[in-house]
Amino acid sequence: MDDFKAIVIDRDDQKKQSVAVKHLTEADLMEGDVTVKVSHSTVNYKDGLAITGKSPVVRRWPMVPGIDMAGEVIASDNAEFKVGDAVILNGWGVGETHMGAFSEVARVKSDWLIHKPEGLTPAQCMGIGTAGYTAMLCVMALEKAGVTPDKGPVLVTGAAGGVGSVAISLLSKLGFHVIASTGRMSEGDYLKGLGAAELIDRNELSEAGRPLGKERWAGAVDSVGSQTLANVLAQTQYGGAVSACGLAQGFDLPSTVMPFILRGVSLLGIDSVMAAKEKRVEAWQRLASDLDTAKLDSLTKTIGFDDIIKSAEDIIAGNIRGRVIIDING
Ligand code: NDP
Repeated sequence: MDDFKAIVIDRDDQKKQSVAVKHLTEADLMEGDVTVKVSHSTVNYKDGLAITGKSPVVRRWPMVPGIDMAGEVIASDNAEFKVGDAVILNGWGVGETHMGAFSEVARVKSDWLIHKPEGLTPAQCMGIGTAGYTAMLCVMALEKAGVTPDKGPVLVTGAAGGVGSVAISLLSKLGFHVIASTGRMSEGDYLKGLGAAELIDRNELSEAGRPLGKERWAGAVDSVGSQTLANVLAQTQYGGAVSACGLAQGFDLPSTVMPFILRGVSLLGIDSVMAAKEKRVEAWQRLASDLDTAKLDSLTKTIGFDDIIKSAEDIIAGNIRGRVIIDING
């Protein structure tokens, strides 16, 4: 095989990070039993952290970032995946400890792959990406905790972001009254188009609040953490539940036990990276059936390979709305 293009993160003896587009060969790739010709990827918040070096996401150098990929199998030593199969991959440390998706070719472990769900194109799968698949895991956890549309409204924080946008689309399609919390009230039409019934300014939730407040929602999908999550819990109604998946405001949680011991509120931890394969397959099947693809198209934009680094900087600066699809050959 000829050499191929990849984004490579490296660091020097002083641990100073550099990012560049390089040409690699198969010999540069890491161990794995399936080789994938990557057609599409996406820019997640974590990719932004890796490329900007803002957080220690990368733990092996050199590293090809990119935690999500869609593509076609071009070589396989595993019976489940045959040459020509359409596959997707989310997480598992790819783009952190194992060379990732921002490359024309990737070699990965078959355990990490799933077949592309029927009904979604590779580009749509990456429009969903880890952010959307995590939103689905959050919704599934709320359902399991008994949060149904008849119980009351649900809140989505970080609403205009990737997790938030997909969560709003899913929850509204499932019949929930969705309250969207955003710092970008100018995106009101966008959020209502996705299915938000009400908008609140994120400043309402981002400052220190009381241990218990007025009961406002039956459940929430929170991708923000910190003081916001503390206030979300304090305003969750009796018996409600909150799926916590993110830290856009911060990784701290300055809360009290009051929502848990006086209102029986449940805090549901959501991890997408190491989630079991059965859960992933279920989440992707639900995404294929429950996500309105017209709404998905409205929350995505497509960029080419050369725009990846800029887009990674933009997501950290909070300048990305919804989701970004990367056409690796574009
Ligand atoms: P995005 O950057 O697309 O969205 C994050 C959103 O959070 C922003 O759009 C903004 O929404 C809001 N936000 C940003 N900064 C602040 C702040 N200081 N205070 C309050 N709100 C803020 O990221 P993603 O949606 O892709 O990811 C969201 C979070 O979820 C990240 O922390 C990410 O690391 C985490 N995550 C975790 C996963 C897991 O497995 N647990 C998987 C995927 C993501 P708005 O403009 O509407 O206010």
